[in-house]
Amino acid sequence: MIRAMLGVVLALGSSVATAAQTPPDVFARQTLAVTDRVHLIYKPAVTDPPFEGNVVVIEQGRGLVVVDAGGSPIAGRDVVAEIRKLSKKPVRWLIYTHYHGDHNLGAGAFRDAWPGLRILSTAKTRENMTGAPMDYVRTYAKSYGDMAAYAATQARDEHLPKALRDGWARTAAAGPGMVAGYADMRVYPADRTFTDHFSIPDRAAPVEVLFLGRGNTDGDAVVWAPKQRVVASGDLVVAPIPYAAHTYPGEWIATLKKLEALDFAYLVPGHGPMETDRAYVDKLIAALDNVRAQVGPLARADVPLDEVRRRIDLKPLRHDFAGDDPWLGFLFSAVFSGDLVSNAYKEARGEAVIQGKG
Ligand SMILES: [Zn+2]
Repeated sequence: MIRAMLGVVLALGSSVATAAQTPPDVFARQTLAVTDRVHLIYKPAVTDPPFEGNVVVIEQGRGLVVVDAGGSPIAGRDVVAEIRKLSKKPVRWLIYTHYHGDHNLGAGAFRDAWPGLRILSTAKTRENMTGAPMDYVRTYAKSYGDMAAYAATQARDEHLPKALRDGWARTAAAGPGMVAGYADMRVYPADRTFTDHFSIPDRAAPVEVLFLGRGNTDGDAVVWAPKQRVVASGDLVVAPIPYAAHTYPGEWIATLKKLEALDFAYLVPGHGPMETDRAYVDKLIAALDNVRAQVGPLARADVPLDEVRRRIDLKPLRHDFAGDDPWLGFLFSAVFSGDLVSNAYKEARGEAVIQGKG
């Protein structure tokens, strides 16, 4: 989910940071039991870089099904180590929720650990992972070096509120670890794909992999364990600040409503803590409705996008998600509202949202 934030930062200009010695592992994970046979492997401090996608492990009779792989080779090794603490069974299926690297660039460690592993995604996700949307991976380490250098200057800017400076200071401190973690990355596209629905049967913990419609990307997979009543949403749901980079706002709402129609007791978002009700998804749907309702009429009246941004009022929404926290407020603009307004504008004008672009 970092790309929008990188865009904001890089537009402001910065210089390259260099890593000294072996930096600390900024991708380290912890594991939480969701329910019987389902575990969540997550990076604490979800609102500080590196933004790492959640990993969900579902234990079937003969092996494990894992949702997402961590966002770097180091993250992948950390996740594999956590999985091995949970079970001696092999991972038989690795499922990608979508193509963004923070969910799949750790897959090499899975391939090394379990050579019989099959990787599954939607056909669209595979297409994105073998095409231009993944090009950014080549310059990822440099981008993070630039971001850390910029963060260090922001952390020293006494005109900024302390909580914001603290956020930048944490980002700067994580810089060398991110630069090291994002070096020499390889993409592992899925070797099996599906379009609407894929079943991985099991007596105790069957898994249904679903495409419910476009939303966060053009090929989001949702993973549903009906017996455990756990759903892994990928970045269709990200908390506490949603992520909107290449989203399709109207279709996203429809997809979230289908997600809500599943009889889940636990929802594991793409980032952020597990949810046990529909309150946050409702809040997200209301936010998308709100922005579409404000942007749509202006976009259709040919008001330029910059002018639309000046005319609409996002303060109440920002407060709903970020409260009075300046760092969360920064993230709200950097990874959610800025892109959401652009995408709602395009949607209202019948223009395409293209994965990996603008
Ligand atoms: Zn993500």
